[in-house]
Order: sequence, then structure tokens, then C-alpha cells
Amino acid sequence: MHHLLLLTLLLSCTMIAHPTQGRPTVIAHRGASGYLPEHTLESAAYAHALGADYIEQDVVMSRDDVLIVCHDIHIDTTTDVATRFPDRRRADGRYYAVDFTWAELRTLQVSERFEPKSGIPVYASRFPHNGASFRLCTMEEQLLLIQGLNRSTGRTAGVYPEIKEPAWHAKEGKDPGRALLGLLERFDYRTAQDKVFVQCFDPKELRRLRQELKTELRLVELLDPPTETEDPSKMASRLREIASYAQGVGPHLSWIARYSASGAPAVTTFVADAHAAGLLVHPYTIRSDALPPGMKTLDQLLQFLREADADGLFIDQPDAAVVRRD
Ligand code: CA
Repeated sequence: MHHLLLLTLLLSCTMIAHPTQGRPTVIAHRGASGYLPEHTLESAAYAHALGADYIEQDVVMSRDDVLIVCHDIHIDTTTDVATRFPDRRRADGRYYAVDFTWAELRTLQVSERFEPKSGIPVYASRFPHNGASFRLCTMEEQLLLIQGLNRSTGRTAGVYPEIKEPAWHAKEGKDPGRALLGLLERFDYRTAQDKVFVQCFDPKELRRLRQELKTELRLVELLDPPTETEDPSKMASRLREIASYAQGVGPHLSWIARYSASGAPAVTTFVADAHAAGLLVHPYTIRSDALPPGMKTLDQLLQFLREADADGLFIDQPDAAVVRRD
């Protein structure tokens, strides 16, 4: 009995020191996108049912200033826009959400992501192109769905919206960042205690949200894979800088895994440096059907992330991470 009590005390001390150690935050990447077309309401509902802690939304703006949940400023890799509105493509041959009203966008059929030229699905084993009906949705519809499920199931899933290409939107005369904060506030996401993270690749936008728009929400800076000149082990000062306006970083996996000639990945100092700066680390993207080099199984990858002490992960199959964690 005495030993058990001591063990419990020791365990709780460990948990205070590392609140997420062994229990990484599971973020459903574009909803349960491994099983249903990304960013649909069906995908978000399924992610909630599978026990995801957070459900991710990428956010772009329509011509009439509605926030649409879509991974790209283009809409031609997940919808039938090219056949429905063939004359609405730009000179570069692409179709952009910002050129369409929400009334037009909502008529499009959504399918599993495909290569626009060939029509071939990006992930061969995912939801088939079988004519099942899916639609784009707005950020407001996602919030209504998730908050409704939070209530009806008694389990609260958070939201994890990403502002897509704010500089590009600004050139188009749009401000999705400001609109997103306003919408979140209407749904009672107002403080650092609320179950939301706002993410963006653009540090200028994150600084603007914090300093100019005065948001109190937790912010996460996303990091593209390191370039030739960026060394994952020499990020300490940049991470301290990020910590002056954000609470976390969302690095590409290659910031955390370093590959040697033998092919076996080793942990870099990135996570330790981020933790020293006071930042959470939520790497992207884990896909059980598209593992990164050097990882033979999903279990190996998740074990690697545990050893790396990542605080969470973006994953297309959220149940896989929830089951292994719990
Ligand atoms: Ca995203």
C-alpha cells in the first residue's frame, strides 16, 4: 500500500513536470481525413466520434467574405469546379475559392483529393470516388457541428483553425485572420483557456493577431520542412523569438527526425529547444497510409514521437493515436 502511494505520488510529480508526456494531444488533420473526404462536415463529425482532442480546419475566404473550410486557396483538387464552372478559371488554369460566392461554392461536389490533370486520387486506399455526396462547408458550420457534438456527447473536442496564405488574401482585398477571430469570439473562444489553437505559417500574421488585433487565443506557428540553410539543431534563438507571440510550433516531421546514412531516424534537439523556450510542439502530418522515410510502421513513428517528447500530433487517422495513447 505504502509503495503504491509512493508510486502514485512519483507519477503525479512526473505528470506535473511534463503535462502531456505519454498523452500527446491528438489533432484530427482536416477532420478524420484518412477515412472521409477532408474538411467535410462528415469528416469533422467522425473525428469527434473517434475521440480526437482537436479537429483541424484550414480556412480560406469566398468572394462574399464567408470563411470556407478548405485546404487550399485553389478548389480544383477536391471539388468538381472544373466541370461545373469551366469558364471561371484564372490565366494560370486554376480555380480559386475567392472568385466564387458561398452560394456557388456550396453547390460543388467534394471528393477525396485528386491530381487535377489526371483525376487520380492522391491516396489510393481512401474513400472512393463512388458518387457519394459531400459538400464544402463554412467555418461557422464546423463550429455549430462541433459545439453541438460537444453538448450531445458530453465530450469536448477543441478546434484548431489555420489561416491560409494571409498575404495572398490581403492582395485579394481579404482579411481572413480578422474574420476568424470575430467568428471564434461569437462562439465563445476568447481566452488562452478556451479549447482552441489558431495556426498559421506566416509569422507576420501571427504577430498581427497578437499585437494589433489583441487576441488572447493560443497561437501556433507552422514550419515548412527545413531548407538547405536551416539546421533543426540551431533553432533555439528563433524558437525564443516565436515564443514572444505564440504558444506553440507545428513543425514538419523532418525538424524532429534526422536521417543518417543508415536510414534510421534520430531525434534532433528541436523539441527540447522549443520546450526550453516554453513552446508546445505539435508536428505534422502523420498518415498511417503514407509513412515518412525510415518509419516502417505507424507504431514505430508514434513511439519515435513519444521519445522525442512531442506534445501532440496532426494525424489523418485520429483513432490510431487515441487508441495507442489510452
Ligand atoms: Ca492545415
